[in-house]
Amino acid sequence: MDPAPLPALRLVTDRSLDALARRLRVLGHDVETLGGARLEELFDHAERSGRTVITRSRRRPRRWRDVPVHTASGALAEDVRRLAGLGPAAGPPFSRCSRCNGALARRSAFEAHGEVPGRVVRSGRPLAHCPACGQWFWLGSHAARLTAWLEEALGRRLEFEGREALPPPAGGVQNP
Ligand SMILES: [Zn+2]
Repeated sequence: MDPAPLPALRLVTDRSLDALARRLRVLGHDVETLGGARLEELFDHAERSGRTVITRSRRRPRRWRDVPVHTASGALAEDVRRLAGLGPAAGPPFSRCSRCNGALARRSAFEAHGEVPGRVVRSGRPLAHCPACGQWFWLGSHAARLTAWLEEALGRRLEFEGREALPPPAGGVQNP
């Protein structure tokens, strides 16, 4: 018998680590953000929902000492590499909404008509829609810059459907 696969990593953080949360979501990780939450609220939510806390704070409220927690250093690329390595992602890259953590649904270009630029509809690129916040995503130049940034941070190539068709990362990989 094969060993049971590791459960997907589930994280929770606050708005101060939004840039980190967004990049981890692009990698397919399930990262919830509690807006304006105090540290105690983060730990309480993590305990009730079975998540791991990501925080800049080194304070550890005693009441939640059994809740798993990781400290973010603030160095974005280093944090992405370390936290992404904690466990399996919930899905492949570009399968979650970077904005709200919703699971994206594949949609046809026709359904996006009027909501995304016409050139995106005409390009025939795969489109994804977030049912939670309504945001549309496609594998265009922004995704190419993000992919280049993440591959540099992780030191490995990302594999996902549509990877081959990404445009070159025009504008560089500095701050996607
Ligand atoms: Zn969303």
